[in-house]
Amino acid sequence: MPIPLLDLKQQYASIREEVLRVTAEVYESQLFILGKRVDDFERDFAAYCRTKHAVGVSSGTDALLEALMVLDVGVDDEVIVPAYSFFATAGVVARLGARPVFVDIDLGDYNIDPARIEAKITPRTKAIMPVHLYGQCAPMDEILAIAEQHGIAVVEDAAQAVGADYRGRRAGSIGTLGCFSFFPSKNLGAFGDAGAITANDDALAEKLIDFRVHGMRPKYFHHYVGGNFRIDALQAAILHIKLPHLEAWHEGRRRNAEIYRRLFAESADERIVLPEELPGRRHIYNQYIVRFPEGRETRDRVLAHLKSAGIGCEVYYPLTLPQQECFRNVPGAADRYPNSEAAAEQTLAIPIYPELTEEQIGEVVTEIRRALRST
Ligand SMILES: *Cc1c(COP(=O)(O)O)cnc(C)c1O
Repeated sequence: MPIPLLDLKQQYASIREEVLRVTAEVYESQLFILGKRVDDFERDFAAYCRTKHAVGVSSGTDALLEALMVLDVGVDDEVIVPAYSFFATAGVVARLGARPVFVDIDLGDYNIDPARIEAKITPRTKAIMPVHLYGQCAPMDEILAIAEQHGIAVVEDAAQAVGADYRGRRAGSIGTLGCFSFFPSKNLGAFGDAGAITANDDALAEKLIDFRVHGMRPKYFHHYVGGNFRIDALQAAILHIKLPHLEAWHEGRRRNAEIYRRLFAESADERIVLPEELPGRRHIYNQYIVRFPEGRETRDRVLAHLKSAGIGCEVYYPLTLPQQECFRNVPGAADRYPNSEAAAEQTLAIPIYPELTEEQIGEVVTEIRRALRST
C-alpha cells in the first residue's frame, strides 16, 4: 500500500458530520462575508495563540503582505528574512517595493541564524521577519533583543507553526505581529485558502481590520490604501470546527516524530540527520525533515527510491530564496548562504501526518535504509 506524504481524507472522515452541518448552516444563512462565523473563529483563534487579537485573512501570503502594509513597509525599505523559506516570505517584501535582505539559517533548526542579523541592519531596515520553519520556532529572544535595540518591528511568519511554543510563549504572540496560513497542508488547514494575523497591540489590530477591507472605516470612507484580504465565512466556519481537534493532531505528529527517532536509533547512521527539537521549544512538525549531509546526490537517490516504493516525499525547498530567478537583481542575491544551500541540497520531507501507523513509519524507515545501502 502506498504511503502518501499527507493524507487529508482520514482527517476529514473524523470530522465529516460537523463540517457538513456548519457548511450547510452557512449556505442556509447566505451570509458569506465576515459576520458571526468569522468573529467566532477569530475569538477562539486568538485565545489559542494567546494573543489579544486575531484577524482572519484570505491566505498566509496575504497575512504577511497585510502585516507589512500596516507597519508602513514601502519603497526602499528593507526587511530581513531568512535565505531559506517558502517564497512568500520574501515575495511580499518585493511586492511592496521594499528589499528583502537575506540572512543565512542555522542547520540545527533550519531557522534564521540570529548571529548573522546585526551585520545586515541598516538605517532602512523596517522589520525582521523570522520564519518558524517546519513547525519549530526561530530563536525569538535573540531576534527580539536585536529588534528592540534598533527600534524595528518583528513579524513572525508562523505559517507552518500554529501552536508551536517557545519558552512558554506561543508562535504568533512573541513578535509585533504573527502571520498564519490555513493552506490545506498546514496543521490547521482550511478547505481552500485562508490565513490570519495575530496582534497584541490594539491600534495595530484596528488597522489590520481596516486594511482587510480597503482601508475603510466607516463604509466607503477610505483612510488607507488596503486591499480585499478577507477570510471567507465558509472557511472560518470550517476552521472553527477544526480548532478544538488541533492539539490532538499536533500530538499525533509529535508521537510519530518520536517513533521515527526510536526506529532510526535502532541502528545509528551518520548518513542521515533527523530533525531536532531544541530545548524550550515545542515543535508541531508541520513537516518532518531529514537531511543527508553527503549532499544532493544521496538525497536525490533516496527521493527516487522512496517514490518508486510508493512513499510520498518532497523537497522543501529546492532553491534558496536568493537563488530564485526573480530575485537576481536584489542586492545580496549573488552572495553565498552556505547553510541555506546545504538545506536546499540535502533535505527531504517524509510523511508525518497524525493518522500514520507505527507500521507505516517502520516501512518508511526500512525503505530509507534500503536506499542508503544501495548508494
Ligand atoms: C504556506 C506558507 C506561506 C503562505 O501561505 P499561503 O496560505 O499558501 O499563502 C508563507 N510562509 C510560509 C513559511 C509558508 O509555509
